[in-house]
Amino acid sequence: MAARIIDGTKIAAQVRQEVAAGIVALKEQTGVTPGLAVVLVGENPASQSYVRNKNKAAHEIGMYSEQHNLPESTTESELLALVKTLNHDPRINGILVQLPLPAAIDEQKVIDAIAPDKDVDGFHPISLGRIMTGQTGFRPCTPLGIQRLLTEAGVKIPGSHVVVVGRSNIVGKPIANMLMQKEENADATVTLCHSHTRDLPSITRQADILIAAIGKPLFVTADMVRDGAVVIDVGINRIADPGHPRGQRMVGDVKFDEVSLKASAITPVPGGVGPMTIAMLLSNTLQSARASAARK
Ligand code: NDP
Repeated sequence: MAARIIDGTKIAAQVRQEVAAGIVALKEQTGVTPGLAVVLVGENPASQSYVRNKNKAAHEIGMYSEQHNLPESTTESELLALVKTLNHDPRINGILVQLPLPAAIDEQKVIDAIAPDKDVDGFHPISLGRIMTGQTGFRPCTPLGIQRLLTEAGVKIPGSHVVVVGRSNIVGKPIANMLMQKEENADATVTLCHSHTRDLPSITRQADILIAAIGKPLFVTADMVRDGAVVIDVGINRIADPGHPRGQRMVGDVKFDEVSLKASAITPVPGGVGPMTIAMLLSNTLQSARASAARK
């Protein structure tokens, strides 16, 4: 039987509506308008598009939002100086520095410089440490979006075997840590796989919930998936397609056509995890503004 499609576009719209309502309430109660600063260095077209979309989304739901476009030639110390200014700017509750940065800039140094209470991307080591220790804090947006998708789709996480393929700091490691926590919508048994995992299909076939965050187009095939598993496809890959008007199309890390015949539920690409990432960024920024208002 064909899998149920987990509609990320619809769930993300619901999250945005919730955040918009939260912004109205916060403004009424405290006079505070949540503020997001998005920093882009260089002219990477994909990054430019992500940054534009993040800013637009913030404006649309009534946030204060500012975009800082810096030239490719920006030095590390210039970028660190901007981050420092934003750390102290009372209008700004969330700072996002779009990655990747030009090679001459040490990304980790820049992430480390963001004030942890404005780290709405959730990449600061303090935010990641809070995930590990089960403390309240910002969760990275894509993993947070995945957890919300599973919850909204009614997937039972506690007790499930979750297999995550991919161990990046922005997706694989945080989602694995989030889902293994002793808390609601978590409590899973988690296996984390990567490029050195031996006999990967024998492990992915054990998954009740399989999360693919690999960055390899159509990597997960039907023989790697157990009947009835829930499959979350994080991948965003562009492959050549002469039949497409742009000569290419976007695909995930999962071979959707065949896996969707075996899984019980699956996220499509596009329209699955992707839209959730921006929605959770807005949600984190509102959370930050609420916390800041409470401190005043
Ligand atoms: P990274 O390239 O940082 O990490 C990829 C991971 O996949 C690594 O841990 C790597 O293992 C593992 N891997 C690579 N090849 C294999 C293999 N043959 N078998 C098993 N594991 C393998 O990617 P990201 O986590 O940043 O992104 C993953 C995908 O998700 C990309 O397509 C990206 O575009 C997409 N993405 C989507 C987002 C969204 O909003 N939907 C947000 C962020 C990312 P090793 O560590 O051993 O090298």
